[in-house]
Amino acid sequence: MESQKRSLNFIELIIEEDLKAKTHLKEGLRFRFPPEPNGYLHIGHASSICLNFGLGLKYQAPVNLRFDDTNPSKEEQEYVDAIKRDVEWLGFKWDRECYASDYFEQLYKWAVLLIDKGLAYVDSQASEEIAAQKGTPTEPGAHSPFRNRSVEENRRLFAEMKNGEHPDGSHVLRAKIDMSSSNMLMRDPILYRIMHRSHHRTGDKWCLYPMYDWAHGQSDFIEGISHSLCTLEFVMHRELYDWCLDHIVAEDQKRPKQREFARRNFSHTVVSKRKLLQLVENKVVDGWDDPRMPTISGMKRRGYPPQAIQNFAETIGIAKRENLVDLSLLEFHVREELNKTADRVMAVLDPVKLIITNYPEGQEEWLDAENNPEDDSRGFRKIPFSRELYIEREDFREEASRKFFRLKLGGEARLKNGYIIQANDCVKDEHGNIIEIHATYDPKSKSGSGSEESLRKVKGTLHWVSISHAVEAKARLYDRLFSHESPDTQKDRDFLEFLNPNSLTTVTAYCEPALSQTKPGEVYQFQRLGYFAVDESSSPNSLLFNRTTQLRDTWAKLSEA
Ligand code: ATP
Ligand code: MG
Repeated sequence: MESQKRSLNFIELIIEEDLKAKTHLKEGLRFRFPPEPNGYLHIGHASSICLNFGLGLKYQAPVNLRFDDTNPSKEEQEYVDAIKRDVEWLGFKWDRECYASDYFEQLYKWAVLLIDKGLAYVDSQASEEIAAQKGTPTEPGAHSPFRNRSVEENRRLFAEMKNGEHPDGSHVLRAKIDMSSSNMLMRDPILYRIMHRSHHRTGDKWCLYPMYDWAHGQSDFIEGISHSLCTLEFVMHRELYDWCLDHIVAEDQKRPKQREFARRNFSHTVVSKRKLLQLVENKVVDGWDDPRMPTISGMKRRGYPPQAIQNFAETIGIAKRENLVDLSLLEFHVREELNKTADRVMAVLDPVKLIITNYPEGQEEWLDAENNPEDDSRGFRKIPFSRELYIEREDFREEASRKFFRLKLGGEARLKNGYIIQANDCVKDEHGNIIEIHATYDPKSKSGSGSEESLRKVKGTLHWVSISHAVEAKARLYDRLFSHESPDTQKDRDFLEFLNPNSLTTVTAYCEPALSQTKPGEVYQFQRLGYFAVDESSSPNSLLFNRTTQLRDTWAKLSEA
């Protein structure tokens, strides 16, 4: 990628200016990717990962992986493990593995400091009452009757909350800021709530948990993050994060600089963990790593190369405004990568029998097939040829126009890596369906048997398999998960209404025998059909392939740019 130098994105421009103005030194740069472990990472996160880790590579600066694990009611170790796997698989290495929960003690002390300064108070109202007093953007909120509790009382209650002496929902700790601020987040935001729940890392040590807003900015500060990059919905949080640090750390201490970029949305899918969780829980898909999911683990299982995801993220870059990115562009990058790396093989998905009447019964021969014309080092393999073959049903017509370059009665076509054949006759069942095609082959037309020039040329080339040598496999063919381009932004409609009922079709594939040796995770090009990844559950006795993508953009929405 380095050879095609692109212009700097606006975040890089900010960093360059900071370096020039010497507000930051290159040695002081540090970034982080801060997921909340409440679901699996998706393609939107991949953008953010590529941005943060990309900056780390560009400036040779460390990048932390920080789990913002402040809400034990939604977070789990399973998600932490999956996130680590996914970031590594995408090809990035973090410097430190950090957790907001490592800072619970420090955050608690800082909250006590706010209480001592008269800047925080325990509110003992129900959450509905607190919400009702919030006001609206145009009307100020009302003060809580507990707003003027004494420091002593606040201290005592807050300690009791920490010690488990009060039930969930009975008290919260709030910052005492400004109930008439035009920024709603500054209207005495809640900093702590009581939750008698085990945390995946701190166990039962705490029953008092910080709100995300009380933990996030301080976590960045503690880790010495120089540039704290997040999505646009955090613009208004900046003022609150600044307020927090203003009152708990010395003025001359270096603060993280927060800058925001637009959240990415993608066509024909959803990228909200809450909605993805709904798909999993409702069993619409087969888990977080279902190949139809826009999750990193789903894309991995689908056979997307990590490099393709990186290239895609680089191409779409980052934006200041939200827009919808067409997923065809990701598929374009997937094909680009796989074209270089995937071995070509033959399999037939919708077979019809082809009998070569002038080829001796019982005879077989092993033909040479090139593995990857884009990569000579991949060499050749042998494929068996015999009298009875399968070809794709749609590759034969009894009659067809001159534009049909496949096989028709009386016409010729080449069998890939093999001979030229001529179709002479076909046999039908009582419903008129073709069940056999009879053809003759030209023994002097074998591929690779002479120089390119001496070989006779025909327009069409077909893929095929020898019936007696073929191995059967299951192949899962995928379509868009949603039939609507933007399923979760339709007024008064639930996104689940737009599920594509045909997003998965399972068929039997008749494969050349070499495919029985394939291993989970490998991706092959089934010639003329698409790229297929060997599923993680596949074994020689029970082969299973997931179609990664077709060979061409069948949705044809990819703009030329
Ligand atoms: P979700 O809405 O899927 O739950 P989130 O923002 O709550 O997403 P986090 O785990 O907090 O999920 O996200 C970690 C980082 O990834 C954040 O910095 C967030 O801004 C970024 N991120 C999440 N979704 C997207 C997206 N669609 N496009 C770009 N960045 C994203
Ligand atoms: Mg979030």
